[in-house]
Amino acid sequence: MKSAYSPLAIKGGAPVRDTGRTWPAWPVHDEREHRAVLEVLESGKWFFGDRVKAFEAAYAAFQGARHCITCNSGTAAAEIILQALGIGPGDEVLVPPYTFVATASAVLRVGATPIFVDVDDTWCMDPDLADAAITPRTRAIMPVHFGGRICDMDRMNDIAAKHGIPVIEDACHCWGGQWKGKGAGTLGACGFFSFQASKNITAGEGGAIVTDDEELAGEIRSRVNCGRPPSGTPWYHHINVGTNARMTEFQAAILSCQLERMEEQMLLRARNAAQLNHGFEGIPGLTPQRTSNRNSRRAYHLYCLRFDEAAFGCSREKFVRAANAEGWPVSAGYPLPLYKQPVFLGLPLHDYNGCSCPVAEDLCSRSGLWFAHQLLLGSEQDMKDILEITIKIKSCAKDL
Ligand SMILES: *Cc1c(COP(=O)(O)O)cnc(C)c1O
Repeated sequence: MKSAYSPLAIKGGAPVRDTGRTWPAWPVHDEREHRAVLEVLESGKWFFGDRVKAFEAAYAAFQGARHCITCNSGTAAAEIILQALGIGPGDEVLVPPYTFVATASAVLRVGATPIFVDVDDTWCMDPDLADAAITPRTRAIMPVHFGGRICDMDRMNDIAAKHGIPVIEDACHCWGGQWKGKGAGTLGACGFFSFQASKNITAGEGGAIVTDDEELAGEIRSRVNCGRPPSGTPWYHHINVGTNARMTEFQAAILSCQLERMEEQMLLRARNAAQLNHGFEGIPGLTPQRTSNRNSRRAYHLYCLRFDEAAFGCSREKFVRAANAEGWPVSAGYPLPLYKQPVFLGLPLHDYNGCSCPVAEDLCSRSGLWFAHQLLLGSEQDMKDILEITIKIKSCAKDL
């Protein structure tokens, strides 16, 4: 491997990716989206019509769920689920601290208290710690299938059943993911998805909730649509405190096109991830997210690695800068666990100053590394470049 002996790009050497090769762009679209958007435009029917219904049916089938209710974001989906479950002031919901803010802020938005439960080497909520965090006030467990890796849903469901509370799956990284052959979002009481621009299926913004529970589906559908009855009619009849979180026909038309590419993209991401997992096995200091055979189909929103400074030979920050200079856009991920965000520290509701989740803190401060799913849509050579960059940096880590 010639470049392993050339100087690091960060020291003025030639970058490994100095070859004209570029990473796949995101989002992707072709003439299908073009046509679909123009059809909606010219139809004059821009909201709450057949395209939303068609996408809901297609997405329910894709996840293997009985019901799918679309909405305008993953954030709105989380808030509406909590409201539909009657969760509010005085109630506690278990959430992980290593996630996008919405997982926890949705709990605050309904007036309830998020209780942070640390993650483990799956980067998902630790089931033992979840069990230990349950109090008489706990009304739901909301784990995140982080990066697309499904958390231990067998354990989560056992714990929830023991206490008679629901599991709400934050599946905003997990389109198409399966646990023992069953789709994410159908494993607990319900699950929610995001179609925001960075996500693996996108219309710029958008969200969806799936569930097998017909009654819950009705409660959710009502709240997405201004509190109308789940059927949407009569139009001037409001039975719940709802909001307008409806998806547009433009979004649904784009998402239906995006969904057609999902299976193929999932296969490609999984194949490339397997190549990387294999390659990283031989490199001390880098450990991919722990896998499980029960996660029978793996979605990849992020490819996650734990970095061990002592075993690799330099700090994570130096590694990230060197890797970026070689042409690999890898990042150190979240800099803070959520409970250290000002919004939580300022709350009278709960003393988050005393919160301590050592695994999440370690991921944030020194060991977390990730890159986005579109890199996994690259070629076999692209994956070789990632491994070559890693080996090249390792060979000069002491001089960084
Ligand atoms: C993206 C995301 C959300 C929120 O989705 P939006 O559509 O951006 O509101 C919630 N949870 C997680 C884990 C996410 O990554």
